[in-house]
Amino acid sequence: MAERPLDLHGRPLGVLRLSLTARCNLACPYCCPDAEDPPGLLTLPERVALVEATVGLGVHTLRLTGGEPLLHRQLEELIAALQPLRRRHPSDPRGALREIALTSNGVLLGADRARQLKAAGLDRITLSLDGTDGDSVARMAGLGGAAAGGAVLEKVLAAIGHARQAGFDPARGALKLNAVITRSGNADQLLPLAELAREQGLELRLIEFMDVGNRNGWAPEQVLPAAEMVARIGAVWPLEPVGRSPHGTASRWRYRDRAACDGGGAHLAVVASISAPFCGDCNRLRITADGVAYSCLFAGSGTDLRPWLRPRPEPARLRQALQGLWRARRDRWSEERQEAAEHRPAPAEMAYLGG
Ligand code: SAM
Ligand code: SF4
Repeated sequence: MAERPLDLHGRPLGVLRLSLTARCNLACPYCCPDAEDPPGLLTLPERVALVEATVGLGVHTLRLTGGEPLLHRQLEELIAALQPLRRRHPSDPRGALREIALTSNGVLLGADRARQLKAAGLDRITLSLDGTDGDSVARMAGLGGAAAGGAVLEKVLAAIGHARQAGFDPARGALKLNAVITRSGNADQLLPLAELAREQGLELRLIEFMDVGNRNGWAPEQVLPAAEMVARIGAVWPLEPVGRSPHGTASRWRYRDRAACDGGGAHLAVVASISAPFCGDCNRLRITADGVAYSCLFAGSGTDLRPWLRPRPEPARLRQALQGLWRARRDRWSEERQEAAEHRPAPAEMAYLGG
């Protein structure tokens, strides 16, 4: 078994969210991605070394994100290069990677790309879609007009089909849909999105609008609390609670009329980072595309890992640095939001951290 350091609140490390680029082909106003990547992006061998070091400290799940990770040319190559970490026996003292997941807006997920990702060894895809008509998609993706929104919507709907065809089975949780909901942006899309996900047999994960970064115009009035989302959807399709799995971000609900089936469309999930924070058992470490580690989505500063990666990765020192970082971790920013508002450092941008 990998050695599992605990942080100052006794939380183990379990999930690594690795951002591959801060750039994006959309411009969602709640996220505000960068136009350019920062200088000094990590190379493929550096990323492999990083994942290997974190696996040695207890990471079992890797989520590849961005910006838009499908813009990264070496995505499939990276996934393939990580496969040896998965083939290790769970009792291997160096640890074993169990799952590799991807979060994407789906615009670039054609049939070939979906097949290549599957062949490289990707296990799960979560696609983001915030509306079911051209107007709403355009508004939430920062596009100019309903026609542009409609074109993106078509691509994402096609991407769902391509992913399914390639073998990402929603009934096994390998294909899900994310939607960020803001009160004035797309609250009217709750029911249409739930209907779309039910029709497609996908679990829909509704995310509260978070105050990540400094430029997305976040205001508390714009947050539609998860309880309200569940109430609105439950009034049409009654729901019963399933709960949040240990270390998970999403609280899940089951549609009563789908009680007999286990497919993805039988469930709804909400990520209530603002109204019901789940810092207490958070096991996630985030690393940006240029190698800065953040121990919280809402943290103001991170640790640059490049000194242990350049000119070439030094596995023992890298592992030591990561272990020290995790052991010193005390973040629970989302829970402290109310009491610590005035002491809180300016957080990093979402597309830099990868969600
Ligand atoms: N481009 C990819 C995508 O959109 O899926 C991956 C990166 S994106 C930063 C990862 C996730 O974070 C997406 O599901 C996105 O909707 C979500 N997200 C971005 N900004 C957010 C915010 N301010 N509050 C809540 N979720 C946000
Ligand atoms: Fe791009 Fe994803 Fe951010 Fe939207 S949420 S701008 S798709 S990185």
